[in-house]
Amino acid sequence: MNAILLGPQGVGKGTQGEIVAPRLRLTRVASGDLLRAAIKAETPLGKDAKVYYDRGALVPDDLVIGLVIERLKQVAHHEPDLAGALFDGFPRNRAQAESLDSELDGIGQRIDRVVNLDAPRAILIARVTERVICAHCGTIYNLRTKPPKMAGVCDVCGSTDLRQRADDTDAALTERLRLYDDQTQPLLEYYRARGIVREVNGDAPIDRVTSDLLTALS
Ligand code: AMP
Repeated sequence: MNAILLGPQGVGKGTQGEIVAPRLRLTRVASGDLLRAAIKAETPLGKDAKVYYDRGALVPDDLVIGLVIERLKQVAHHEPDLAGALFDGFPRNRAQAESLDSELDGIGQRIDRVVNLDAPRAILIARVTERVICAHCGTIYNLRTKPPKMAGVCDVCGSTDLRQRADDTDAALTERLRLYDDQTQPLLEYYRARGIVREVNGDAPIDRVTSDLLTALS
């Protein structure tokens, strides 16, 4: 099964994707994580992507599509027992959705389910601006609702390098939400026409969202 988690910034796609993907034997393919890794490693693609990333703009389609397809091929090669992929942050626009469809079609697969995870705007803005991420292992915290056990220290790897993401500032977030409304949200209609979209409320306790998501993906 291949599924897409669609939803605005801060709705919890990353947190929930990490919980539900292993339970469904899916590999999580998060384009934002792939880009952050490329930027951190200072690969040529990472250097090209950084200028867009830092200001909250969309990274050009050819860079992102290439990165996602490469990741899918790696997974097919190294983890052939997985049941499929759970996409997070990809596709972000119509061109990406069509590329993904044609790539999956080429290997006899398709998108089977799209979950629309949503929450009120004020909640999203609060969550994103309170978010910090461990620069070492990528664990995500919320300073108010899910702080690390010891202030400033990552629970998972012990690093003290907890930072705000470069694109989690007010200005970049406003641009990211605008792009979401403009380019990503309309994808719901693209997938609704196939009858594969399910709605999940992201404004609920983490456990509740997880169980609703598992239902939506089953
Ligand atoms: P995310 O972690 O999904 O919030 O993505 C962080 C940033 O990475 C976005 O603001 C974009 O700059 C870039 N990005 C992630 N996924 C995509 C995508 N599918 N298309 C274009 N840019 C992307």
